[in-house]
Amino acid sequence: MTNNEELTLFRDMTIKALEAEVTPHYEAWDKEGIVPRDLWRTLGQAGMLCVDVPEAYGGCGVPFEYSVLVGAEMARMGFGALATNVMVHSDIVAPYVAHLGNEAQKQQWLPKMVSGDAVGAIAMTEPGAGSDLQAMRTSAVADGDFYVINGSKTFITNGQHADMVIVAAKTDPSAGARGISLFLVDTSLPGFSRGRNLDKIGQHCGDTSELFFEDLRVPRSALLGEEGQGFVYLMQELPRERLVIGALGAAAARGALDLTLKYVDERVVFGQKLKQLQNTRFRLAEMETDYRVNQAFIDQCIDQYSRGELDAATASMAKFSATEMQCRVADGCLQLFGGYGYTTEYPISRAFVDARVQRIYGGTSEVMKEVIARSLLGKG
Ligand SMILES: Cc1cc2nc3c(=O)[nH]c(=O)nc-3n(C[C@H](O)[C@H](O)[C@H](O)COP(=O)(O)OP(=O)(O)OC[C@H]3O[C@@H](n4cnc5c(N)ncnc54)[C@H](O)[C@@H]3O)c2cc1C
Repeated sequence: MTNNEELTLFRDMTIKALEAEVTPHYEAWDKEGIVPRDLWRTLGQAGMLCVDVPEAYGGCGVPFEYSVLVGAEMARMGFGALATNVMVHSDIVAPYVAHLGNEAQKQQWLPKMVSGDAVGAIAMTEPGAGSDLQAMRTSAVADGDFYVINGSKTFITNGQHADMVIVAAKTDPSAGARGISLFLVDTSLPGFSRGRNLDKIGQHCGDTSELFFEDLRVPRSALLGEEGQGFVYLMQELPRERLVIGALGAAAARGALDLTLKYVDERVVFGQKLKQLQNTRFRLAEMETDYRVNQAFIDQCIDQYSRGELDAATASMAKFSATEMQCRVADGCLQLFGGYGYTTEYPISRAFVDARVQRIYGGTSEVMKEVIARSLLGKG
């Protein structure tokens, strides 16, 4: 079997599993504001979590493109919040552990993340430190064989369900970016607590929470990589996160276009099908082109990442361009649904509200432009 055939087979299996396990329940989960914890185990059993983790740690050890495909199919099928949650678990948290963890850390967390027995989260953002991560105030003070963590984080994806959170904290508040370290925090430890699941305008069943650390004692063995290298690690890992967000954006746009192509063939206005009006034809031609140009760039970036050649600026271009396109397409498609597009009964409305955050998390579009500009012009 060729690589392409294998990937197609994996895509078909993923779609079938999602149709069986997610499609019938997703609307109810969106109303409830969270997916059930058990879904993670179901996804694990179906072989959809952390698929590129090496076999030695329970994964399939398949190439990166398989992992992106899982989130992308979720996004294409209109499960934006689930795609975000799974992306954070499989494409952000697991790679940190796989790339930076020591043998004991990998053995402790990766097999459980593959099976869905442990859910992963990463906590960088604080109320006073979003785009400006260096302003974070959460501290980790060494105390014998432990670090004592104090502070709070906000907007943390998978915060409600997380069994392990990668927490970015200052081990040396006087050292700026060089004073940040990363910790693999077991959420069953005393001193860890979760705030409420935040109410959002979209991605309703997405798990997005505040987290609090009060004299949380973690063993020294929970330090991920070296002390003081946290910011360097964040910068190393961000290209993958940004590329995957872009890939989800492109896939979600594909899903919105497919819904719309079907709708304009059914809806009748002024005695003819909506698809016969020139505006409809031109808008869909424009949006399909917008989507395809972006998808081609995303595919190119996936190849570059797989070869270890994706730089930070190019990953930022992928996120910036694909998520802005996603929002343009979601808006343009909704418009073609007229009033029905504004009702929650039609999934295009969910595509619209779910899209908006893609230009914000993982680094805002403005921050992406700054990273790109810096690569062209140096620091301003
Ligand atoms: C649903 C959701 C899930 C999230 N998941 C996670 C998660 O799992 N883990 C995590 O750590 N964080 C997460 N975040 C946080 C997210 O990464 C931040 O919201 C984002 O980085 C922006 O930070 P901020 O909200 O503090 O905005 P701010 O940094 O306050 O930005 C406000 C405005 O200023 C602009 N701005 C900021 N800096 C510059 C600049 N240098 N130049 C020009 N304009 C600038 C921004 O673009 C924005 O328009 C999530 C957020 C949401 C909404």
